[in-house]
Amino acid sequence: NHRSFPYSTSPPDKLLGGLLPDGLDERPCRSRYESTMYRRNPGRRPSPHLIAKLRKHEELQRRCGPNTDAYSLAIQQLRAGKSAAAGGSPAECKYVVSISYRGLGNRILAAASAFLYALLTGRVLLVDPSNEMGELFCEPFPGTTWLLPLDGFPLPSYTNFSIDTAESYGNMLRNKVLSAGADYARPATPAAELPAFAYLHLDHDYAHEDKMFFCDDDQRLLSNVQWLVMRTDLYTVTTRIFEIENPTLCTLTANLRDVTYTVPGLFLVEAFREELDALFPERDAAFHHLARYLFHPTNHVWGLVTRYYRAYLARADLRVGIQVRNFNPTHAQSPHVLHQITSCVWREKLLPEVVLATEEPHDAAAAPGDKSTAVLMTSLRPWYYERIKGMYWEHGTATGEDVSVHQPSHEGQQQFGKRSHDGRAWAEMYLLSLCDVLVTSGWSTFGYVAQGIGGVAPWVLQKQPENLTAAPDPPCFRDVSMEPCFHSPHVYDCKMKRGLDTGKVLPHVRHCQDVSWGLKLV
Ligand code: GDP
Repeated sequence: NHRSFPYSTSPPDKLLGGLLPDGLDERPCRSRYESTMYRRNPGRRPSPHLIAKLRKHEELQRRCGPNTDAYSLAIQQLRAGKSAAAGGSPAECKYVVSISYRGLGNRILAAASAFLYALLTGRVLLVDPSNEMGELFCEPFPGTTWLLPLDGFPLPSYTNFSIDTAESYGNMLRNKVLSAGADYARPATPAAELPAFAYLHLDHDYAHEDKMFFCDDDQRLLSNVQWLVMRTDLYTVTTRIFEIENPTLCTLTANLRDVTYTVPGLFLVEAFREELDALFPERDAAFHHLARYLFHPTNHVWGLVTRYYRAYLARADLRVGIQVRNFNPTHAQSPHVLHQITSCVWREKLLPEVVLATEEPHDAAAAPGDKSTAVLMTSLRPWYYERIKGMYWEHGTATGEDVSVHQPSHEGQQQFGKRSHDGRAWAEMYLLSLCDVLVTSGWSTFGYVAQGIGGVAPWVLQKQPENLTAAPDPPCFRDVSMEPCFHSPHVYDCKMKRGLDTGKVLPHVRHCQDVSWGLKLV
């Protein structure tokens, strides 16, 4: 008993239960208020506390954001290298700049993580405008911009900050420029000696001192630093190109996955816990809400989404999204991976099996044309799509249902800094999020974003081992939650100052199934 397209609920809940601010002009960003028409799954309800917090935060972004007096003052202080607290009173406006880096999935997770950190610490979020952030996403905050104005920003090379940057929090701790100490009443570094900014290097290669970011004492110290520049991944472009072009390096690079989604780590900071519990009483929906609040496709991308959806997906009774991400190029056309995909969808009864006999079964449950399923595949290559589409054309299904198979693009390989490429990737992620059922590839942030926005816990295709001689068995597993996995968590007990399995501290922060050492909210 499903609703027919367009699915907008009655009365229309275009504000997603109060998650979105009302009254924004719809024309420059049609997706913001039109998305409910295309989404059959209404998703989770945001908590009243989250709604109130977002409205308050929007006010902060307007009051302290670019083109305000407060912003000009903060820029002056940054240029002078002076801590605002040096004048005696704490800064009125504090900032966190999120560096946009790497693939689109990574950029989305990085911005969502930085945003939650900004919410928790009362900071203005500014995103680095490189990598087309402004062309792909609408402005999320009414009456202001979330894009860092590069003109006049006193840290011109901030996008090159790395583990070696002297102003990284880790290096400042190591070189005793800063000291977090344990005594709140008497912080080890007096406010007058605080730097104007600190660079937070939260990346796969982050050092022990950088990981202190996830400790309470350090958060207390950082709360007095007016400007923070945050990088939550640095899986460099060259590494990734290597990965695509040089299969032998894959094992090596596969272990260098990014930090990116740091939200589960924030749940482990005691000072944030109470607030996080109030914001997200359903912890497994944290990214779901953050993403639906922040990321709205710009009109061009929305055109790609909606035209495709209406043409190929809207009229089906069921939409099944299958995201195929081959981290190893030798698996781009592998019969074993094909077998893995089909055995997953058949075993889990996500799609009807094909009957290999030449005659279609007479006892099929559905009369011809009764039920139709549309499969949306996304992948950099067309091979799996062509095989699966061919299979459902060559053969009838055991149930008599019709299955159509679609793949919007096959870009060949990941490309960097190309607008149309990123636009298509964003449109495909979003189309996946509109599916009723999702099959994703483990380890991929592309799939994480789709499942989070869609509010769907996916079936996950196990990452294939290097030397693939058969389909992995079992081919896939049902994920425990729709949350992304934090790939490189810290493993440290801040109080006891010793190693700790951070996947065993809280019942709702657990190890991921796809990346066994990673952490996710459940
Ligand atoms: P991850 O590397 O799988 O974690 O995901 P990212 O989104 O961070 O990086 C992969 C990038 O490769 C994407 O942003 C796209 O540019 C490209 N890409 C990967 N898979 C697909 C796909 O199915 N469709 C399209 N259009 N692009 C893809």
